[in-house]
Amino acid sequence: MKMPEDYHMFIGGKWASSSSRETFNVINPATEQTIARVPMGTREDVRSAIDSARDSFDKGEWANKTPAERSAALWKMAEIVENNSLMLAQLESKNVGKTIKYSRDSDMPFIIDNLRFFAGAIRNMEGKAAMNYSGMGISIIKREPIGVVGAIVPWNYPLYIAIWKIAPALAAGNSIVLKPASYTPLTLLEFAKLTEKVLPKGVLNVVTGPGDTVGAELASSSKVDMIALTGDVSTGKKIMQLASNNIKKVHLELGGKAPFVVLPDASIDAATEGAIVSAFWNTAQDCTAATRIYVHEGMHDKFVKMLVSKASKIRIGDPMKESTDMGPLVSEKQRQRTEDYVKSGISEGAKLVHGGKRPKQMKKGFYYEPTIFTGVEQKMKICQQEIFGPVLSVMKYRTVDEVVDKANDTIYGLAASVWGSDITKAMNVAGRLKFGEVWINEHGILVSEMPHGGYKQSGFGKDLSMYSLEEYSQAKHIYIDQTGLARKPWYYVVYGDKK
Ligand code: NAD
Repeated sequence: MKMPEDYHMFIGGKWASSSSRETFNVINPATEQTIARVPMGTREDVRSAIDSARDSFDKGEWANKTPAERSAALWKMAEIVENNSLMLAQLESKNVGKTIKYSRDSDMPFIIDNLRFFAGAIRNMEGKAAMNYSGMGISIIKREPIGVVGAIVPWNYPLYIAIWKIAPALAAGNSIVLKPASYTPLTLLEFAKLTEKVLPKGVLNVVTGPGDTVGAELASSSKVDMIALTGDVSTGKKIMQLASNNIKKVHLELGGKAPFVVLPDASIDAATEGAIVSAFWNTAQDCTAATRIYVHEGMHDKFVKMLVSKASKIRIGDPMKESTDMGPLVSEKQRQRTEDYVKSGISEGAKLVHGGKRPKQMKKGFYYEPTIFTGVEQKMKICQQEIFGPVLSVMKYRTVDEVVDKANDTIYGLAASVWGSDITKAMNVAGRLKFGEVWINEHGILVSEMPHGGYKQSGFGKDLSMYSLEEYSQAKHIYIDQTGLARKPWYYVVYGDKK
């Protein structure tokens, strides 16, 4: 048996063990074997990473580089990821349990594209054109980096979401300290290793360890100017409190409970196909996963029959195999959580029409069958709470007003989709949905050019796009007087010549 690999943290351009010397094990969720030992970082380690980031920022070693120089560095990172993408994809699949098809053909290309997008975007960033608003001088808007950014990322897309923070933060000229989720720190540490020579020391740091110490220190430190989190709503609430310590800027991308609205004129074939992919992609550990399918009563039974038939064709198995469509959940805890929700659905009176158990053929690993409920009521837990496991609820509706109300009846507001062939009707429904991202006849497509982020308790702050670059920078107004020596003091202008 292969021995677990030992990893180190990346602090101030050096590879470090934890100051406590402690480590934690990282598991392959498909085999339940330990694949790596990673430092159990401490608050002291975080403080050391923050000091390195602060020092590099205050010296202007990165922030004072021209956009062209920063762009070249991000472009270099993209090239390095591209040259190592198979290794990174395999490691991501081993660590998360996501299929190699997704890691290699979806995660890695998007990571590379994202780095290249921000490499280009920073060369196109501009303040507003100068204008003489006072009649006596010119106003300029200059965009500046924020300073030291702390970034805390989840386990469902470990490197992918880390890059959503790294690329705009670095493009804008910030220094950054990242904390990966403890289940899945490996690809971010490999990325830091591969790119360690690209940036000045201290500009990018990675500290591993628990959320309530390492993450909390990052969120509360008065030497950190901005904290970005992708995670659960409850974690977002804690981060907001901790960040209030020095009124740091907060950027939150939180959970979701996406509705999938099927209008009466939708193609049942296309909508069921879309539902299967978007509900069970990444073993449903996706904040945009379709979890609430609202189908018009006239097509409900036919829709469910086709949905179940398609779900039964999903091939569960070893994520490293090309033929596998769905791997395990990331942990036993996540599988247990899924099982608890399935029990709650049954006890609240929903009808289990597919799945609902561990697949018999998988002797090891945290596997769970794709599961479908019908007859789900709006108030049930499986309809209201984020499961982050392969459980899909199907509900009937009669009128458009009813379905819009039901789709909006959630604390979340991240993503939604509408399916129908009359584009005017679909657009009308899309406009009434209170979600930050709404797809029509599609569910889950993200592109580097467009913002991704929530309404309501799904958070605020946009990832991806020029909007994200704006989030990682701040606007400064600089005023240049044009009256020279002949000018009157400003109080004459305001109060008149009273002396
Ligand atoms: P989580 O909130 O448990 O953990 C996210 C990160 O926060 C981890 O690195 C964790 O260690 C850290 N953390 C936990 N407690 C902390 C604390 N008290 N202080 C500071 N840091 C702390 O979430 P998760 O289980 O890793 O990920 C799943 C969640 O992430 C789901 O709710 C999902 O919807 C959400 N998510 C959202 C998006 C999005 O773009 N909106 C994308 C992916 C995942």
